[in-house]
Amino acid sequence: NENTIGFIGLGVMGFPMASNLLKAGKRLVVFDINIEQAAKLPFQENVIVASSKEDLAKQVDIVLLMLPNSPHVKETILGKGGLGGALDQGSLIIDMSSISSTVTKEIGNELDKREIDFMDAPVSGGQIGAVNGSLTFMVGAKKEIFDEALGLLKIMGEKIIHCGETGSGQTVKIVNQLMSAVNLVSMSEGFTLGVKGGVDPEIMRDVILNGSGRCWALEDRMPVILDRNFEPGFTIDLHTKDITLALEVGKELHVPLYATSLIHELFKTLQTKGNGQKDNSAIITLYEELAGI
Ligand code: NAD
Repeated sequence: NENTIGFIGLGVMGFPMASNLLKAGKRLVVFDINIEQAAKLPFQENVIVASSKEDLAKQVDIVLLMLPNSPHVKETILGKGGLGGALDQGSLIIDMSSISSTVTKEIGNELDKREIDFMDAPVSGGQIGAVNGSLTFMVGAKKEIFDEALGLLKIMGEKIIHCGETGSGQTVKIVNQLMSAVNLVSMSEGFTLGVKGGVDPEIMRDVILNGSGRCWALEDRMPVILDRNFEPGFTIDLHTKDITLALEVGKELHVPLYATSLIHELFKTLQTKGNGQKDNSAIITLYEELAGI
């Protein structure tokens, strides 16, 4: 039944995305290792809680995943009792998690042998985008599979972009995460220097928003820093995971990642100091501490 969809991973992002599918009239068969969340989904009459991923796979032909990282996705698809063994031929798995592009290609090749379609469709737009259904999806898949899944993704997102073959969506996501992290660090470094030099950070922001230093971090993250509210948002831990993915892919493809390597150490320091669960904008606190602000 095309109207019944499997959904695995009801966390910060998955829960509101699943809610939007239910609001659009879909029936969901859901699974999560921490299943309590399922009882809070809207339209409970259309929610079936699966007892395992295998049980879920027996009830659907399309499965959406929103899991933390590569090992979780690989285990869910290719592990014992995984979707790869339990779904019928011709089924479709859409992985919306942010994971390794290389692992994604491996999973795609394995599923090809079993005649199960696979696409990577990581997102940007954060929890707010997930709640509002305004996410951007970066999709790696054969064109005909992309076309088939477009309607479903449009329920959860606004911009759905086909980036190329399997793995391309994850590649674009990794590039975005690398750039946003470098961005955030460059702004933190600059602002620490400016503030220690005696300039009001609000004035500095106003000026630089009109200068060549303008960037997403300045537009979106600096207000958070000025509020001194480092509740997440997007955590240091998750951003470090994405930077690590970039470094792994850089190594595999023999691409030097100088800036990424440097900021990885910085993000790791924040984790070591126990700040992994803070918002990524808390990067600036390390600079402030070292500069004696
Ligand atoms: P989360 O940790 O809140 O949610 C993950 C969910 O998966 C949890 O409910 C967990 O219980 C479940 N889970 C973990 N392992 C499982 C398994 N083996 N089987 C079944 N369920 C399992 O994470 P999130 O913030 O929702 O992020 C999910 C993905 O989306 C990550 O890859 C993240 O990088 C990416 N992402 C997050 C944001 C954000 O702002 N939070 C934005 C864009 C992309």
